[in-house]
Amino acid sequence: MKVLVIGGIAGGPSFATRLRRINEDAEIIIFERGAAISVASCALPYYLGGLIRDRSTVIERTPEILKQKNNIDVRLYNEVTAIDPKQKLVHVINHQNNQSYTETYDKLVIATGASLLSPKLRGLIKLMMPSFSGQSPMRQDQALFRNQTAKAGDNSGRRYHRH
Ligand SMILES: Cc1cc2nc3c(=O)[nH]c(=O)nc-3n(C[C@H](O)[C@H](O)[C@H](O)COP(=O)(O)OP(=O)(O)OC[C@H]3O[C@@H](n4cnc5c(N)ncnc54)[C@H](O)[C@@H]3O)c2cc1C
Repeated sequence: MKVLVIGGIAGGPSFATRLRRINEDAEIIIFERGAAISVASCALPYYLGGLIRDRSTVIERTPEILKQKNNIDVRLYNEVTAIDPKQKLVHVINHQNNQSYTETYDKLVIATGASLLSPKLRGLIKLMMPSFSGQSPMRQDQALFRNQTAKAGDNSGRRYHRH
């Protein structure tokens, strides 16, 4: 059985490692369009704020670990751009070399997160960083946030400054 997983932060790797525990033979591939997998999102405010300085401490598992321990093929910077359920294949672009390719599947898991809903409350706040969700937070520039974000922040990692 060939299983493709789209998204590599929380849901994707959790599913993939669980599947490996119950099925030793499945071929498992995780596509993550960002630069890292298994990022501990709850630690991101501390990383961006500079309290946690070592980037590796907010990454729970690397592609190398998943390959070595779980025989899972993790493809960073690989974005699934389309799904063809009839032919059971996905279209992928590898952002590192700009090459497009397709990959077939028997089962497909979509773990691409959710989008932030920003209420339009006039004059209240200006959202500087729309959301971590659906994008790779590790691609953000830590120094940028240190310098430019306001001191106020909430535990969901969103940072604001007043108009
Ligand atoms: C700052 C912060 C703090 C948090 N703190 C807590 C906490 O303390 N406790 C708690 O329970 N929850 C917390 N959360 C929430 C928790 O992190 C999320 O619920 C969880 O990350 C959701 O996981 P997910 O795998 O569903 O989606 P995401 O984490 O959003 O991961 C989806 C991944 O899919 C990738 N992706 C999307 N589309 C594609 C595509 N087409 N091709 C390839 N890859 C794609 C994205 O790059 C992304 O990496 C926090 C979230 C944030 C942002």
